Amino acid sequence: MQNSIASYLSHLPLIVGSLSFLLIFSINSCQQSASSSSTVEEPVVEEPIQQLVHQEEVPVKVDTLDYDTTQWLELISLDSTIQLDIRYATANNFVGQVLYGCARCFLRPAAARSVLAAHQQLKEEGLGLKMFDCYRPRDVQWKLWEIYPKPGYVADPRKGSIHNRGGAVDLTIVDGTGQELPMGTDFDFFGPRANHTYTDLPKEVLANRQKLKSLMREHGFSAIRSEWWHYNYRGEEYELADEEWNCQPK
Ligand SMILES: [Zn+2]
Repeated sequence: MQNSIASYLSHLPLIVGSLSFLLIFSINSCQQSASSSSTVEEPVVEEPIQQLVHQEEVPVKVDTLDYDTTQWLELISLDSTIQLDIRYATANNFVGQVLYGCARCFLRPAAARSVLAAHQQLKEEGLGLKMFDCYRPRDVQWKLWEIYPKPGYVADPRKGSIHNRGGAVDLTIVDGTGQELPMGTDFDFFGPRANHTYTDLPKEVLANRQKLKSLMREHGFSAIRSEWWHYNYRGEEYELADEEWNCQPK
C-alpha cells in the first residue's frame, strides 16, 4: 500500500502535466469549435441585423428615444391609436394658457402598460381612449398653482400631485370616429357636476362614466370623487419628477 502511494506520488508531476495538457487541448478545441461554428452558421449572425431593420418599421424608432425607458414610457410608442388632446399644450384649458411646449404623454412604465391594456380592451368594441393629461412636470404645477391656488382642484406643488410623479392620467373614451362619449362636463370642469357622486345626469352619461371607472379599476387605477376624468395608478408612491421632454421634431 505504502509502495503504491509512493509510486503514485512519484508520478504526480507527470499526472498533473498530462491533465494540464488535456485542459489546454480542450480549451483550444472549444475555441476552435466556437469560431468554426460561427463561420458555418452565418445566417444566425445576420439575425440581429434583420431585427434592427424590422424595428425601424415601427412608428417609434428605438434609437431615437429621448427618454429613459426604465423610468418613463410614452403612450403613443406603445399604441399610436391612443388619442391625445393634451389640453395644457393648448390654450383650451381652465387657465386659458399654453403650459406645455408640446403635446406628449409620458407615464411610469407600469401605469403606461395598464393604460395600453385598457385601450386595447376598448378597441375590441370599436372604442378607444383619449388622453387629456399624463405626467406633468412640477414647473407646470407651479404655474397652475400661481393661477389657481385652490387645494382640491390644483395640488400644492410643494407636495406635488400624482401627475407630477407620473402615476396619474386624465382621460375619456372616444368612439370609432374619435368623438368623445358624453360625460356630462368637459375636462377640468370644477364643480359638483363633475363628481362621481353627482347623479342628476342622463342615463347615457352615468353609464359612460361607469364604463370608464370599471375599465380603469380593472386595470389597476382608482378614481377620485371630484373628477370623472382623473385616475391614479394603484396608489403607487412614485418619486416627484422634473423630467423635461424634447419638443423638437425628429
Ligand atoms: Zn388629473
